[in-house]
Amino acid sequence: ASTLPRLPLFEAISKHDPDSTAVVHCLSGRSFKYAELLPDVARTRDRLYEAAGRPDIRGERIAFLVENSYDYVVTLLAILAARAIALPLSPPFPPAELQYILSHSEALLLLHSAKYTTKAQEVLSTPFPDPSPNPTPHPHPKLVELSKHLGGGSFSTENGAANGAAQVHISSDDADTEGAGMMLFTSGTTNRPKGVLLPETALTAQCNSLISAWKYTPRDRLLHVLPLHHIHGTVNAILTPLFAGSTIEFLFPFNADTVWRRFAKPFLQTNGNGTSNGVTNGDSTAESEPKYANLSSAPITFFTVVPTVYTRLLSTHPTLPAPIATAARTAINPENMRVSISGSAALPTPVKRAWRDLSHGNVLLERYGMTEVGMALSCGLDYTDRVDGSVGWPLPGVEARLVDPETKQIVTEDSTEGGREHSGEIQLRGANVFREYWRNPEATAKEFVEGEDGQGRWFKTGDIALRRPVSTGAGSGSSGDWARGSMYFILGRQSADIIKSGGEKVSALEVERELLSLPEVAEAAVLAVPSGKWGQKVGAVIVLHDAYKPKGWKPMDMRRALRDRLANYKIPQVLRIVESIPRNAMGKVNKKTLVGAVFKEDF
Ligand code: ATP
Ligand code: MG
Repeated sequence: ASTLPRLPLFEAISKHDPDSTAVVHCLSGRSFKYAELLPDVARTRDRLYEAAGRPDIRGERIAFLVENSYDYVVTLLAILAARAIALPLSPPFPPAELQYILSHSEALLLLHSAKYTTKAQEVLSTPFPDPSPNPTPHPHPKLVELSKHLGGGSFSTENGAANGAAQVHISSDDADTEGAGMMLFTSGTTNRPKGVLLPETALTAQCNSLISAWKYTPRDRLLHVLPLHHIHGTVNAILTPLFAGSTIEFLFPFNADTVWRRFAKPFLQTNGNGTSNGVTNGDSTAESEPKYANLSSAPITFFTVVPTVYTRLLSTHPTLPAPIATAARTAINPENMRVSISGSAALPTPVKRAWRDLSHGNVLLERYGMTEVGMALSCGLDYTDRVDGSVGWPLPGVEARLVDPETKQIVTEDSTEGGREHSGEIQLRGANVFREYWRNPEATAKEFVEGEDGQGRWFKTGDIALRRPVSTGAGSGSSGDWARGSMYFILGRQSADIIKSGGEKVSALEVERELLSLPEVAEAAVLAVPSGKWGQKVGAVIVLHDAYKPKGWKPMDMRRALRDRLANYKIPQVLRIVESIPRNAMGKVNKKTLVGAVFKEDF
């Protein structure tokens, strides 16, 4: 029998109903039970030892390129089982970016699925470039194809989990889980991505915090459409549901039309005489198209994505055949979809409203987090605890404070007190916080400050926020004790979103929010444009809604529209209309690049 280390995640999984479904591949309908998971993990862990040529790879970085699938889950858990550091890579990254990550992390192995053989070979085909900030160049990791070394296609097909199911023990005496963890790279929105080392204890704390706030249960079924090299897709949408015994359904690659058809499937009723919701079966309903034949009929109860996914879904909904559109609206209503979450970037209020209207009342839950700490602030499960523009309160187990970046004083006031705005940098501490930036002690030292109370150091997020008292009955409902007091509102990144114009400070996020509430504006990015006269001026980059494209939009139109909504100094002084605003995989805008591309002539 194989023995797995006593990680809280493995203990939790071993107690789930073995017959319940852990993972589903949405399009093929293939599903994997909780009973299969740990035996597959143990077997894969042993193959890792074989590939490495030694039975101890504790603390080593094991990189992997695997599509969103059961295999991804098994690979991730197998690396934790070896008490090594799981380093998931993003397949769409260009080879140079992957080389940077592999060389910087000094990965021991590069695991890949059959799908990414070419990609993996390409990445290792040339010597690694300048390994900076590593002091010495690191050799290539060993290339290991999962299908050859770890079992074909999906691991569970090999030797059958069925006969291995009873064979896994969780170690009873070995409490040493030291070395296990994940390394994730930040989005690189403000700088070169940094390698964030998240020990297993931090991951477990993050999962526990989310379970108590969002109440994942074994009855939850989560549709997973996120990239798997970020905290959102991995911790919130894989590790936490596995902890709770929920079902994870991977829809890969993301496609808005398929998401709607999957949501709709359980609610498409046939009424006996060959019609479906009043439309004949000849129409393109979910059942009649072969590629959707295997979609499950179990309702999706849990959905967590980035704001741009909601935008895509909202713009696709009108193109659906009528019966599917209707069933999809039923699927996302508050009774059927228990929790729909948005995060990783600011949620535009019009998107939140449009989702609520389409879903007959489902209010999106916004939360705030980052690679270094996981989720930090969140609105509550109770609908009254989801205030537009707010990211809520510190999650259970997370301590938060605001610190004035200039005076270094702790901000104790709410924004409105004394008639002026009290904002500050969000600083966080708790068991959820990462340990260090990999091989970057300077960055690590720079981003932490010692607590005056001797209760541990605070992580400086670089994000500016303010607190506002709310009068919507916050904390009175079912959210939990943590959802109480003044709520946090994110003003943006200190480095990119706080524009200093003629002695005034302007929050880019606040201006973006107002721009997005105008009927003409489909997308908006507000940024600091260098100015000889003002230091910086407020610049706006806008994508117009199709209906307004022919007519165009002039700076005058913008000023008139914003006059009653924003103080004069906050209204953008320069405006550019573009066809699209470039965003990364998490829907974030790199403002440094954008300002250079769009406002060149203003420099
Ligand atoms: P880098 O650190 O490399 O510049 P990044 O900060 O974008 O990249 P992540 O850790 O993926 O990398 O993103 C965390 C950041 O995303 C937060 O610091 C914050 O600026 C932003 N963010 C997350 N959630 C929200 C939200 N709900 N509203 C506004 N901003 C958010
Ligand atoms: Mg960051």
